[in-house]
Amino acid sequence: MGKIVIIDENLCIGCGNCVAICPKKILYLDVESKKCLCRDESSCDRRRGCEKVCPAGAIKIS
Ligand code: SF4
Ligand code: SF4
Repeated sequence: MGKIVIIDENLCIGCGNCVAICPKKILYLDVESKKCLCRDESSCDRRRGCEKVCPAGAIKIS
């Protein structure tokens, strides 16, 4: 299976918007890099809430 939650670390500004709205609580900010990561993409509902709130266009749902 391919990637579901695709995050471009170069674009992510670590704002936390996606972390705050993800209904599945699978997104988090890495403590050191302050970049968004996904801990369990198989739980993703694929409704793209994170895409909509990302100001940087850094997160895409396949
Ligand atoms: S699509 Fe929804 S469930 Fe999946 S990572 Fe984004 S906000 Fe979370
Ligand atoms: S909303 Fe976008 S810029 Fe903000 S933490 Fe999530 S992926 Fe990074």
